[in-house]
Amino acid sequence: MLHSSYIEISKSALQNNIDFIRREIGPDVQFSSVVKGNAYGHGIEQFAPLAQACGINHFSVFSADEADRLLKNIPQPATILIMGYLDNPELEWAIRHDMEFFVFELDRLQEASAMARKLGKSAKIHLELETGMNRTGFDKAALARAEAFLASHRSEVELQGICTHFAGAESMQNHERVLRQLQKYYRQVARLQQAGHLPRQRHTACSAAMISYPETRMDMVRVGIMQYGLWPSPETYSRYISRQQEKKDPLQRLINWKSRIMSLKSVPQGEYIGYGTSFQAPRDMVLAIVPVGYAWGYSRSLSNQGQVLIKGTRAAVVGNVNMNVMMVDVTDIPDVEKDDEVVLLGRQGKESITVASFGELSTQLNYELLTRLPLNIPRYIID
Ligand SMILES: *Cc1c(COP(=O)(O)O)cnc(C)c1O
Repeated sequence: MLHSSYIEISKSALQNNIDFIRREIGPDVQFSSVVKGNAYGHGIEQFAPLAQACGINHFSVFSADEADRLLKNIPQPATILIMGYLDNPELEWAIRHDMEFFVFELDRLQEASAMARKLGKSAKIHLELETGMNRTGFDKAALARAEAFLASHRSEVELQGICTHFAGAESMQNHERVLRQLQKYYRQVARLQQAGHLPRQRHTACSAAMISYPETRMDMVRVGIMQYGLWPSPETYSRYISRQQEKKDPLQRLINWKSRIMSLKSVPQGEYIGYGTSFQAPRDMVLAIVPVGYAWGYSRSLSNQGQVLIKGTRAAVVGNVNMNVMMVDVTDIPDVEKDDEVVLLGRQGKESITVASFGELSTQLNYELLTRLPLNIPRYIID
């Protein structure tokens, strides 16, 4: 094996998750598959064709470079929506390739319109509204100017969508804020519609909003984390499951991240393990040296915290996670040998390692750990 670890992506798990989400939203709501952050670490090149094979025909990305990677790797035509970074010089490319994109500044609107005119096409834009996230989006004053511009440039600019994004729909702590955002969105859309700006799609929902606030689904949902089989937060899961008869998680994780034991080492009681003194052997120990460290996205914050699976048993990370290796306690696992499989994330036998299982660490780590998985770890599709 050339690489010290590899990632498996399960097709049947993805199909399961997509089917579940489609059942939730019904046939009239467009499902946009969010593949920013290298498809949440799953790999755009591997994930997107798989998603298409599972029936996806609409993708959302953050940036133009992700859109480009998508375009080069999907076998079927699909709608591609850029939600964030698209620099004005790339507008020509974007419009030529029928990309749809968020617009949250007047300048972008004007440039898009000018480029569309030059190309003899129309730019398909999604007006992003500021409703309380305070990130990107037109505030009231800027929106008025955008409206005036739109009114006089209808042939160059097609109002494909009006959208916004919630500031934390995965936590009840933000309940009031989310509702205020929604009210603000409704008011602004109503006003735009009265002024004759009729979007094809109104869309606001990410995974958490789709589950916890069904009224946010509107014409399209932008679903990231849940298609990969993870809940946005434990709270979102408990809100969902409390409404169900069957108390079983309907999602399945796609990803297994695996490595092998590179070496074994016996350490006498009292010795410190690895750099520094964060772990002292409380007894004679056997350690497995695993060739994965923070350079591959296995966070240093998992030092003395993380767990892996070896021979279907949980084994604790001991000492600090190094750049390229970590040490794992296998003292109580019989017959461990060099080259045995190590599961860093995912399933082995009856056990599984989820990011959320790393106890005290925040569940935002689900998003973070996945997206930190480097591009150069090989990814394989399994059934
Ligand atoms: C990331 C993102 C989403 C998807 O969020 P999930 O919580 O992964 O479903 C939707 N919309 C926007 C604007 C985003 O940035």
